[in-house]
Amino acid sequence: MQNEFNIIEHYFKRQEKQRSDVVIGIGDDGAVTQVQPEHQLVTVTDTLVEGVHFDQTTPARAVGHKCIAVNLSDLAAMGAEPCWISLALTLPDIDELWLNEFAAGLHEVCQYYGCTLIGGDTTRGPLTVTVTAQGQLPTGSALTRDGAKAGDWLYVSGPLGDAGLALDITQQRYPKASPHLQKLVERLHYPTPRVALGQSLRGVASACIDVSDGLLADLQHILSASGVGAEIELDRLPLSLAMTETLSQEDAFVKALTAGDDYELCFTVEESNRGRLETLTAHLKNRPICIGRIQKVASEPITFKLFGEEYTLSLPRSGYNHFANIEADPS
Ligand SMILES: [Mg+2]
Repeated sequence: MQNEFNIIEHYFKRQEKQRSDVVIGIGDDGAVTQVQPEHQLVTVTDTLVEGVHFDQTTPARAVGHKCIAVNLSDLAAMGAEPCWISLALTLPDIDELWLNEFAAGLHEVCQYYGCTLIGGDTTRGPLTVTVTAQGQLPTGSALTRDGAKAGDWLYVSGPLGDAGLALDITQQRYPKASPHLQKLVERLHYPTPRVALGQSLRGVASACIDVSDGLLADLQHILSASGVGAEIELDRLPLSLAMTETLSQEDAFVKALTAGDDYELCFTVEESNRGRLETLTAHLKNRPICIGRIQKVASEPITFKLFGEEYTLSLPRSGYNHFANIEADPS
């Protein structure tokens, strides 16, 4: 049995390949890392709480994966290269099986994206995972939320609403089982942070954010920060086959616009940079999809079109927040 003091050393200090810029890693009072010359440090933090962000049925491996992935998604939205991770873990008790699986999920993502866990802390209490991730980018190249201008094109990096649909199906909000359930649950439990795309967007995107709370809610952050509005062409929204086969067209649009947890990027690109975007993202498996355009701010910050015609979409509620997304009733 491990005590609280050596959990981090025992379960997490085992990375096969450490970054060479980690001068002092796990095991001292603090970690020391070397930032590249002419680069800036980007720091993000995200917390997952059992009962809020995941429940007891969520595999420990998924919790380990997701706590890193959601932070790398924030780094991607800033255009940063992910580098270093620290972990604050609050555990109700020491469950070795859970810890092994959690650590495996965490290490898998770290290894894949070339990040090193450099430190952490454990305490006893309700299951809570807080991760701080640090990345770096060339000085002055960070992607922000405040640069969108009227006329810029609006993009998303991939299908929207799948994670929310997975949650609805697992909570049995639909009468029949979906043949796509496994794929959808993968999207909910093992999100893919758009790390390569985020870095490609430096100097190309005028504004960027990751979609954690739902497209409308997150796009609204860009619109408020930039002082602009947006028009979304609903027929261009990327929807998975699982989505179109499970929901009606209208419900699929609402799900794609309001459900959280997809961790795709939403960004804007000036007309003159569209060619560069095409070239820079040509190598990516998932190419970004243009879903609309930024407009001058009007009475409605976000308007919709369907096949070129103005369209009024009845959205379930006016405010989009984390809790509304979980409770949103698709029927
Ligand atoms: Mg974010």
